[in-house]
Amino acid sequence: MNNKSANLAIISNNTFEATKIANLDHYDISSALQTTLEFNELIAIFSNKIGYKIPHSAYVYINDEFGLETKSGVFTRHSCNYALKAEQQQLGELKLMRNHRFSNNDLQLLEGLLCCLIYPLKNATLFHQALKMAYTDPLTQTHNRNSFNDVIKREMSLAVRNSHDLSLIFFDIDHFKLINDNYGHDCGDTVLASSAQWIKESLRESDIVFRYGGEEFVILLSDTSADGAKLLAERIRSSIEHHTIAYGMDIIKVTASLGVSTLRNDDTAGSFIKRADNAMYIAKNNGRNRVVQAK
Ligand code: GH3
Ligand code: MG
Ligand code: MG
Repeated sequence: MNNKSANLAIISNNTFEATKIANLDHYDISSALQTTLEFNELIAIFSNKIGYKIPHSAYVYINDEFGLETKSGVFTRHSCNYALKAEQQQLGELKLMRNHRFSNNDLQLLEGLLCCLIYPLKNATLFHQALKMAYTDPLTQTHNRNSFNDVIKREMSLAVRNSHDLSLIFFDIDHFKLINDNYGHDCGDTVLASSAQWIKESLRESDIVFRYGGEEFVILLSDTSADGAKLLAERIRSSIEHHTIAYGMDIIKVTASLGVSTLRNDDTAGSFIKRADNAMYIAKNNGRNRVVQAK
């Protein structure tokens, strides 16, 4: 613990490790924390359960590993801040706020209570790491085909329910086999990973990119019209064309062909993808390195 200011009880960058055994008095908190593996729910339960012992007006929890920031309540001027850790594993940062200072007694009590939170957070971390691995393509760090099969159904029903547009881009690297043949499979892998990165850099946060097959990616664009999707596909095409990859002494240039489709009322997941795939083949047949919009 370290009071950084005479007026404010700001405890910054404290590291809290689970070295203490959770107190039996905290059984109620511990059992409540066993009901979920979602970070935001764990923090909300913890805040709620400790409220009568450590009154606070707001909390903020940040977990960089999962790109998560969850907050609730009214932000006030005094705060205490803990970096949470168990067995060298980072479990995020928790900040509590209120109108009056946190005394040393409060902080001691809080540290005892934090013992109850550490292992539920660790379980949540393991669970989300496993989920992420199950849905991530290891080479390109995009979502994998399994994930696509789930997400497309969810996005289609959301689009229909909310009367939103939904568009899809089918992306295929041109003459990729030649890259493998000329420079080797490792170089091909580098091209795949770089292409995925360039695609991601062209997208909005809500757009999702999936590795559909070997050198094929699908990008799902929620709430995006046919015109918007075509513009984005063109931006991706241009980005790929204008990047180069330095591989040893070689400079490699890549192009891609893209097909775009927009959801129709009578579409199934299969017909929605097929139209984009067909459009991509027309792009190939028309000379590659181009975007074609499905009729
Ligand atoms: P087109 O312009 O018509 O799309 O030609 P292409 O050469 O890109 O397409 P083709 O389907 O003939 O070849 C795709 C190649 O991608 C063949 C396969 O060996 C290779 N490939 C698939 N997955 C991977 C991978 O993970 N890494 C590497 N390096 N190559 C892969
Ligand atoms: Mg292909
Ligand atoms: Mg190809």
